[in-house]
Amino acid sequence: MYVKFWGVRGSIPTPGPKTVRYGGNTSCIEIRLDSGQLLIIDAGSGIRELGNWLLANDQKKGPLKTDIFLTHTHWDHIHGYPFFTPTYIKGNEFRIHGPVNYAGKLEKIFSAQMDYTYYPVKLEDAGAKVSFNELKEGTIYVGGAKVTTCYLNHPILCLGYRIEADDCVVCTVYDHEPYVNIFSTDGRIDSDEAREAQEAVDMANAKILRHIENADLVVYDAQYHSKEELDSHRGWGHSSIEEALANSVAARVKRLAVFHHDPTRSDEALDALHLALRERVQREGLNLLTFPAKEGLAVPLKAGPPRG
Ligand SMILES: [Zn+2]
Ligand SMILES: [Zn+2]
Repeated sequence: MYVKFWGVRGSIPTPGPKTVRYGGNTSCIEIRLDSGQLLIIDAGSGIRELGNWLLANDQKKGPLKTDIFLTHTHWDHIHGYPFFTPTYIKGNEFRIHGPVNYAGKLEKIFSAQMDYTYYPVKLEDAGAKVSFNELKEGTIYVGGAKVTTCYLNHPILCLGYRIEADDCVVCTVYDHEPYVNIFSTDGRIDSDEAREAQEAVDMANAKILRHIENADLVVYDAQYHSKEELDSHRGWGHSSIEEALANSVAARVKRLAVFHHDPTRSDEALDALHLALRERVQREGLNLLTFPAKEGLAVPLKAGPPRG
């Protein structure tokens, strides 16, 4: 199996000379099983280039039949789909999985971006057969992979995925903010409400650890770098590099790809953050490999200890 990043940026595409090395496209991840089966996670603007690559490669072997897993329907996770050229080819079939949303059906929310108000072609007129599957927490089996979902902490329902295939485990944890106790002031637990809330918070955070336990690769939300930066953006639904590292170590993850880079981060700023992260991992003798997700980076996975 390999995992390839086609879009790694959070919130909004950020083209330009300051982001050219890590890439400015929003979330899209290719998971390619040893059988050749393709799974796609998210349809941010990175899916456009993935679509072009598929046209030049997979499409030549016959119609594409692929599952696309949406973490949620915020724009940066769906807005590339109208530019995903394989959806304009008759015979192709895409099954789009995503979380139940109490604002309406997944199909309606997803296809609204291809209403004439916003876009000249309707989804149902595009050519390919597109179907939808609303997910809650649970497990489904797709294309030779076991896919387990976990609710994350975000302003709308958002899913983390745990994909098991070819004796490897790949997990996603974005867009996600660590749960905090809103009844506690300055970390003090000095009321019954605060004690009860702390139990719930501890359980919810422990669930995230179980979701990524022993994974070969975790793609983790690292929009912010430190607790201070995260604290100044509480409620926005994102994590920090520190949080991603702490949880990956606690869950005995083998490789950590920090992901969903803040749109304001330049290549130089990301270089500095990731150098500091790598130095910390070495200094503390932590047993995992960390790297920044980067557009075009393909990560071959084999079960076992991290390499390189
Ligand atoms: Zn996002
Ligand atoms: Zn979001």
